[in-house]
Parts: sequence; structure tokens; C-alpha cells
Amino acid sequence: MTDLTHEQLADFRRRLQAAQIAAKAVLHQGAGHKQVEASGQTIGRLTRMDALQLQAMSQLSRHQIQIKLRQIDAALLMLDAGKFGVCRKCRFPLAFERLDAVPEAPFCMDCQQSMEDS
Ligand SMILES: [Zn+2]
Repeated sequence: MTDLTHEQLADFRRRLQAAQIAAKAVLHQGAGHKQVEASGQTIGRLTRMDALQLQAMSQLSRHQIQIKLRQIDAALLMLDAGKFGVCRKCRFPLAFERLDAVPEAPFCMDCQQSMEDS
């Protein structure tokens, strides 16, 4: 278990859910900025920050979004299980800065790099 506060966990859950909605929206809309931006209206519960997330998501390829969506789903499951923020490889808690930048990150920096190097 990490030392994240209840508020931090709630915030990560909200961001992950927003990212999940954004990822699904982009996947269903197909590629292309304008379509995605227009779809912002249909997703009424997205805040301005979430809309930015939607825009960031639309920069990724379909394949990248699918990977991201799987990581988001997994991160939400971990949240439910009370194991959010733990590296899936070495089982150490992830640094808050890393989670803050990438809430769905499945691995810590060290493990991520060692996998990319190999
Ligand atoms: Zn690790």
C-alpha cells in the first residue's frame, strides 16, 4: 500500500475515469482532432481539464490509446483493490510525481527503463 491520502486517491480515480471516457470517445470517434473536439459537447460531464485530456488523447495513435485504455482499466481495478500506485513488477510504491504525471503507469521508472533498454 502506498501512503497516498484519501483525497489524492479520489483525485486519481476521477482523473482515471475522465481519461477512460476520453480514450473510449477517441476510439469510437476515430482519429482526427475536429471530430474529437466536436464530441466534447456530447460528453457533458467532462470538465475543461478533461477536455484537455481528450485533446491529448487524440494525438496518440489508435494502438497507443488501446494500450493506455488497458492500463487505465487496470489502474482503476487496483484502486478498487486498494493497491493503486504499486509497481506491478517490483512491487514498490511509485513516486507521487510519476503517478501525478501518468496516473495509469503500471511500472516505476526503474522497471520501465530496464524494460525499454532490453
Ligand atoms: Zn518497479
